[in-house]
Amino acid sequence: MAPLTYRYVALTDVGLRRSNNQDSGYASSRLLVIADGMGGAAAGDLASSATMAEIRELDRDLDADADGDALDAMRDAVARANHRLAELIADDPAVEGMGTTLEAMLWDGEKLAVAHIGDSRAYRLRGGRLSQLSTDHTFVQSLVDEGRITPEEARVHPHRSLLLKAILGRDDFEPDFTWLQPAPGDRYLLCSDGLSDMVDDQTIERVMKSETIDVAATELIRLALEAGGYDNVSVVIAEFVSSDEPLDEDLSCADGRPQITGAATSQPRPRTGSGSAASARGTIGATGMNEPEPDPEELRYAPRPVPRRRWVRWLLASLVILGLVGGACAYAYDWSQRQYFVAPSGDLVAIHRGVDVSVGGFSLSEVDEVTGVRIDSLPAYQRDRVAAGIAASDRDEAKRIVTNLSIQVTEPTPTPTPTPTPRRTRPTPVPTETP
Ligand code: CA
Repeated sequence: MAPLTYRYVALTDVGLRRSNNQDSGYASSRLLVIADGMGGAAAGDLASSATMAEIRELDRDLDADADGDALDAMRDAVARANHRLAELIADDPAVEGMGTTLEAMLWDGEKLAVAHIGDSRAYRLRGGRLSQLSTDHTFVQSLVDEGRITPEEARVHPHRSLLLKAILGRDDFEPDFTWLQPAPGDRYLLCSDGLSDMVDDQTIERVMKSETIDVAATELIRLALEAGGYDNVSVVIAEFVSSDEPLDEDLSCADGRPQITGAATSQPRPRTGSGSAASARGTIGATGMNEPEPDPEELRYAPRPVPRRRWVRWLLASLVILGLVGGACAYAYDWSQRQYFVAPSGDLVAIHRGVDVSVGGFSLSEVDEVTGVRIDSLPAYQRDRVAAGIAASDRDEAKRIVTNLSIQVTEPTPTPTPTPTPRRTRPTPVPTETP
């Protein structure tokens, strides 16, 4: 039997709600990649394109002595990407908090070496049936794994975008690495959550059976936009065929050239300070007011600006005091005790109930829950935010803020002894599938 090869296509769309594309995509005869950039007030397009630049280095003849096998080369490339983000953040603290998901497959001529981190997905269509190969590194997936919610509930969960793992430029990241064994006729789909959030698996399965992968890619993007296009949407599709099968000259890959999409195609603008980063990401509300809409990506990744509501809270807290004086104390106090914020309790991060103010030595808040997150284990920016108090609209939001903080915990380095560089990091492989 002739050896296998594959046809490929990469396609993206900025979507209907966003002003820039933070996804990066890549497809060539050796390499398939999706990176979905993120970062509240930071620079998702910088994170995904910088990561893509490192991963694209794999698109060459590997040297068995220098590179090891394809999975070794993939591990090294992912570690380099992580190290690169660390450098960028060190150069410009305004981009701290940026990061990216990664779904990457490297073809060694016989099998695929796969890296996965975050909630970009890999699917396979085999024998007419679609299966999801990757496991989302998300908060809701952890709830599904614990049996606390169903996959159907996860799809509509308000915190479905909250990631537990991503490439963030920190040493403690843990991508999944595995091998996949393609068979003739297999179609593989790599996509950002801009597709999987908007289009259900049954529909993806149906579209993946389209006559050609170019048609399938176009139709998937169209359906995501039709469903609302809330996010950047990116797809990469590969179809495995016998290498003696004639190439359809109408396919986009017929020219043999790599296809690059999204943020990776442009030079991300340099960022000098959080103001420029914030304005680069802000979207104008549908009301036409100048108040930026809360961006769902802000909920996705930890750093959030201090809400303006904070001033409203101070005002309302003052009214509480007046209310106490004026005799409306029951209602006012009740209101204050339904407010939450995240602030220190000793050396630890805690959820406080009430409002962050005291009247004549009488505090209007109390500690509701002390978490295991040490203040000194947080990045400097987050330490400052916690010290100032992070307001939450309810207890669930406070808990989500803590979850966000906890995934940014870094192990303190107690002494300045040399530590291994991230380049040497060898995360434990966690197979997503046994081929
Ligand atoms: Ca996304």
